[in-house]
Amino acid sequence: FTGKTGSELFTEKLKKFKVDEYQSRPIVVEEDVSVYDAICAMFLEDVGTLFVTDQHSILTGVLSRKDLLRASIGNQDLTSVPVHIIMTRMPNITVCEPEDLLLDAAQKLIEKQIDGLPVVQPTEEGLKVVGRLTKTNITKALVELARDQHL
Ligand code: ADP
Repeated sequence: FTGKTGSELFTEKLKKFKVDEYQSRPIVVEEDVSVYDAICAMFLEDVGTLFVTDQHSILTGVLSRKDLLRASIGNQDLTSVPVHIIMTRMPNITVCEPEDLLLDAAQKLIEKQIDGLPVVQPTEEGLKVVGRLTKTNITKALVELARDQHL
């Protein structure tokens, strides 16, 4: 018996969770895809954030729901506007890596007030997108932990 309280055990376990245990599949579009096609991808794939890459799968930007809404309220022809015009671009993208602590990634989501982070692997050419970490993934981790501990 370690003498640890339930709360201490909970925290101890939570601090061991890694991003790659909870990340989802990334949904990616290329930079020259139209805003129209990005909106279609967002609906078809049922995600709130799309990641934008170049032809070599290197991260160049992020598209959120509001980015696409903002681009849609003008009178432009959405099929002729490429997403690289409206996306949030590198180097202003907040990322995490597979081996990062889930808690540190959660902290970034809160600090930056965003819904998701691209999970990336640094390479010579840039950051390769390998996953997607959202508030939903973190909620799942919390629920799983609570159920494990029979709280
Ligand atoms: P929504 O636009 O639906 O509120 P977010 O809160 O995630 O979704 O996005 C807010 C803004 O932050 C958007 O302009 C989006 O492009 C940008 N953004 C989203 N995720 C990231 C990220 N990981 N790094 C940098 N900027 C991001």
